[in-house]
Amino acid sequence: MPCGAKAVLIVTKSVQGTTTNLAQRRAELTCDAPAGHAGAHTDSTHGESWEAEAGKVATVLRHEDA
Ligand SMILES: [Zn+2]
Repeated sequence: MPCGAKAVLIVTKSVQGTTTNLAQRRAELTCDAPAGHAGAHTDSTHGESWEAEAGKVATVLRHEDA
């Protein structure tokens, strides 16, 4: 049984010539570590890990430069 904790991944990109960060895309992350694991949740499909309070959906921000 995987942990199954969820998070929202938001990928942002800077807009050339400005200081604005534009939300590029979002994806849902699901922890695929075994249930009851220690430490941060991990989604190996998306290569992200995050910490979250139990029962809360975390938001993970990732910045990519063009
Ligand atoms: Zn987890």
